[in-house]
Amino acid sequence: MKPKAARKLLERYRVTDGAAFRLADHDPADGGGGIVDHDELDALLADGVARLSELQGRLYAADTWSLLVVLQAMDAAGKDGTIKHVMTGVNPQGVVVTPFKQPGPEDLAHGFLWRVHAHAPAAGRIAVFNRSHYEDVLVARVHPELLDHAHLPAGLHGGKKFWRHRLEDISAFETYLVHQGTAVIKIFLHVSREEQKRRFLSRIDTPHKNWKFSAADIKERDYWDEYQTAYEQAIAATATAHAPWYVVPADNKLFAHLVVAEAMIDALSGMELEEPSPPEAECKLLAEAKARLEAE
Ligand code: ATP
Ligand code: MG
Repeated sequence: MKPKAARKLLERYRVTDGAAFRLADHDPADGGGGIVDHDELDALLADGVARLSELQGRLYAADTWSLLVVLQAMDAAGKDGTIKHVMTGVNPQGVVVTPFKQPGPEDLAHGFLWRVHAHAPAAGRIAVFNRSHYEDVLVARVHPELLDHAHLPAGLHGGKKFWRHRLEDISAFETYLVHQGTAVIKIFLHVSREEQKRRFLSRIDTPHKNWKFSAADIKERDYWDEYQTAYEQAIAATATAHAPWYVVPADNKLFAHLVVAEAMIDALSGMELEEPSPPEAECKLLAEAKARLEAE
């Protein structure tokens, strides 16, 4: 996309201050309000993927900055497809995708950020979290009985203050990463309840998609409203200018992919990614190596 149009598009979905944030103000079927010509989505995404690939090459070469992309969504909102289509052009050596499932016994014996921190990106790399530390203020908030297994002292368990502390800790953790040179962007793929139903039915009716459907998905759908409230509270409490949320309309998959690609491009473009030029001593070494090779 042209830089000006991309900026306008991202501004539409970026949340940097939660004070007035209402999820209900965001339409999962929003198509960009005329900023994007939908007949060109394929071409715009292909162009975005190519630019992302180029920027990732520079990120890798610079070996200082890094990027963390947190992907959160309800089931069937398209997390896997987004990763597949947006990351198709990037060098697999430079990207690590980590899916976060239910925590195991060792995870539960530690604080909730313990297992997450180890997967933050190394210098020069992109890390994509397919679900993340936010599950600890989403699924855990919708099903607080999960906390029974978290080895928490009784006095610390549950209550409004408990969730406020978790949200503050998440924010502080993300700020810490930013201070280390990691850009942090958080994506909420915002799908509608109707579209989720359509996608579940398609997964059930299409044999080669059956594997994508699990009985747990239909159970969690019963908690739709509770999840929407938990998302609203989490986004409101953790949206900052340095670690923004993007509430990406996800009823149209291709459009969602374009917005995510542009958000990543924007984050990478904010870094000084000059390819490192070798110091004088190294130039001399290179010249000597070249002379030796040519003399062989
Ligand atoms: P897909 O269904 O496309 O494979 P998914 O991310 O839904 O992707 P699942 O294995 O279906 O993967 O689900 C992972 C489950 O793990 C989700 O239900 C999620 O809520 C749960 N989970 C992740 N992190 C935590 C956590 N910290 N505490 C409790 N449950 C968690
Ligand atoms: Mg699932």
